[in-house]
Amino acid sequence: MRDKRVYDSILDVIGNTPLVRLRRITAGIPFPVWVKLEYLNPMGSSKDRIAKYLVEQAEKDGRLHPGDVILENSSGNTAMGLALAAIQKGYTLKAVVRDRTSKEKLDQLTALGVDLVKVDTSLPPDHPDSYNLITPRLARETPDCYFPDQHNNRENNEAHYRGTGPEVWEQMDGKIDVFVAGMGTGGTIGGVGRYLKERNPAVKIVAVDVVGSVFTPYFRTGDPGKAAPYLLEGLGDEFLIGCADFSVIDEMVQVTDKEAFLAARELARTEGLLVGGSSGAVIHALKKIAPTLPPDARVAILFPDSASRYLSTIFNDDWMREKGMLD
Ligand code: PMP
Repeated sequence: MRDKRVYDSILDVIGNTPLVRLRRITAGIPFPVWVKLEYLNPMGSSKDRIAKYLVEQAEKDGRLHPGDVILENSSGNTAMGLALAAIQKGYTLKAVVRDRTSKEKLDQLTALGVDLVKVDTSLPPDHPDSYNLITPRLARETPDCYFPDQHNNRENNEAHYRGTGPEVWEQMDGKIDVFVAGMGTGGTIGGVGRYLKERNPAVKIVAVDVVGSVFTPYFRTGDPGKAAPYLLEGLGDEFLIGCADFSVIDEMVQVTDKEAFLAARELARTEGLLVGGSSGAVIHALKKIAPTLPPDARVAILFPDSASRYLSTIFNDDWMREKGMLD
């Protein structure tokens, strides 16, 4: 019978996103490429999944009580998902965001009534008000506060292990050789990677990182080195974090801001897929490794969010030129 798609709650609409074959941008690649479109979640990103899971797990074991404040640091998408969960379940959300977070995300969070704390990203990582240090401090200072800590709480990976991973496996009918996704907190690649490897240890897990992040140097040499600034939202970090599970990753591909942004623009114009810069990074990385893969490889990739969050940045020629991203 046709799935009538009638739900009890908007939270039940999270997940079960479509897997779609790319038709045009993959010209020249010998194998079909299937992409999981996470922007079709209710709040427009893969992070809806973890927001719901983190809140429900905390409710279950008594870390979160009616009327509490949820406090989280987020590149914007987790905050959107948490805002939905908070509104539906009666909590208030305070979100710590980087000052480079796009205006569209900030406007949407404001529309949802989220209390925003903007962090100056020029502060050194060891400064008490830096992005990674300010939130645990605010969490300690705020009464009746739950800090999901998506960067270090492995329930983030678990949400993808239980949801995204099985969905990809089933949608590919268990016939998958390579999975490619970005690595920000590491939840997606860690959770999906672990699930797919448990089903078939031969599945190759490829993580996509941004130039400037410490993840790739750490993966390759064991030394994270020193981070350098970058513009791409959602991927990489200046620190190693608890959810970054390198044990399931076979290969890391590092992409520059410019490569990611130009690829996102190309996805819009060639596929009609309005997706964000981290999706651009993923397709760019896939094109880079495609010649190294068998010509009959069965490949799934994941696009985390929508272009609607970056219209004033990646999709704005003036901004792109100002940042040196357009020739
Ligand atoms: N892309 C975007 C736009 C994101 O917001 C995130 C989450 N930080 C990611 C990719 C990476 O996903 P994950 O945190 O699961 O590694």
